[in-house]
Amino acid sequence: MNHLIRKSVQAMAGYVPGEQPRDAKLVKLNTNENPYLPSADVQDILSMIDIAVLARYPDPVCLELRKVIAELHGCEVEQVFVGNGSDEVLALCIRAFVERQGSVGYFDPSYSLYPILADIEDVEKKPVALDAAFGWQMPADYAASLFFLTNPNAPTSLQYSKANVEPFVKEFGGVVLIDEAYADFAQENCMDLALVNENVLVARTLSKSYSLAGIRLGYCVGNTELIGALYKIKDSYNVNYLTQEVARVAILDQNTMKANVQAIIETRKLVSEKLTDLGFAVTNSETNFLWIKPQGISAKAFVKELGKKNIIVRYFGDDEHTKDYLRVTIGTAPEMFAFLDAVEGILNGSE
Ligand SMILES: *Cc1c(COP(=O)(O)O)cnc(C)c1O
Repeated sequence: MNHLIRKSVQAMAGYVPGEQPRDAKLVKLNTNENPYLPSADVQDILSMIDIAVLARYPDPVCLELRKVIAELHGCEVEQVFVGNGSDEVLALCIRAFVERQGSVGYFDPSYSLYPILADIEDVEKKPVALDAAFGWQMPADYAASLFFLTNPNAPTSLQYSKANVEPFVKEFGGVVLIDEAYADFAQENCMDLALVNENVLVARTLSKSYSLAGIRLGYCVGNTELIGALYKIKDSYNVNYLTQEVARVAILDQNTMKANVQAIIETRKLVSEKLTDLGFAVTNSETNFLWIKPQGISAKAFVKELGKKNIIVRYFGDDEHTKDYLRVTIGTAPEMFAFLDAVEGILNGSE
């Protein structure tokens, strides 16, 4: 049977997304979804959609949606590419910018999908290990065709300052895609680097800050020629009609997104302080999740104990960089009180 499958595909592991259990009694803090409702305008537009339009193909280039995104970032429509989740945008970037002999760079740890996307295209991976404090320093003479720079980083939750990112992108010989999935939760972002540097793209998603992981919408902004290359190779109708409409009204309603983000930031501060008091090492999160290290019990055992109490968080396995930590999405305040109760129960040895 194996002779029918490409060797590189046989050799690779598939991406394993966080579990998506539907059990209502679980407190689900494992995939960085937003616990609050998206804009009420989303409900309105869905009620108003005439089902006759669904018989037709959608706009292949998502013009109305891209106008709204271009307006938001103060750029031209030709500088905006829209995809079926930012995961699709990332995959297309490898296909568009990396030759067969080329390479893909990213920090380790960062988003665990990048190496898998490189494996799918069968191109070289050039990870750069972060230091013990999860900071970065590029190795001398480092080069790659494309570098995925996650900022703020996942799963570490830390932001790299623009003052550090800017000299790196200006010196780098390949394309830099700054993956800003969490930028709305951070104090700073690098969008303007994409507007002035011809080798920089900035990617955003509606999955986190806009509470719309279910519609699958991501986009990137940057140089018109890079954006044009992505348009050449995408599927004809990569973003469906319903998603285009929902995303458009959600982005127009910045107030709802910002209010939800503010609530998450407040909860983040409270939980972060409480965990610090309980003896956890907690990184300074600029995202909608916390990257925490328990004391006196292994992270792996801790995740298991939380699971027994119906709380699911994300553990990234035995890798040297990640084995001592767990990633906890910021949920609603009641969800986080349930989480903190469970944490205290575990620390006090109660079952
Ligand atoms: C969640 C996430 C994505 C994926 O976004 P989608 O639009 O849901 O595909 C991309 N990059 C990072 C760093 C993420 O955390």
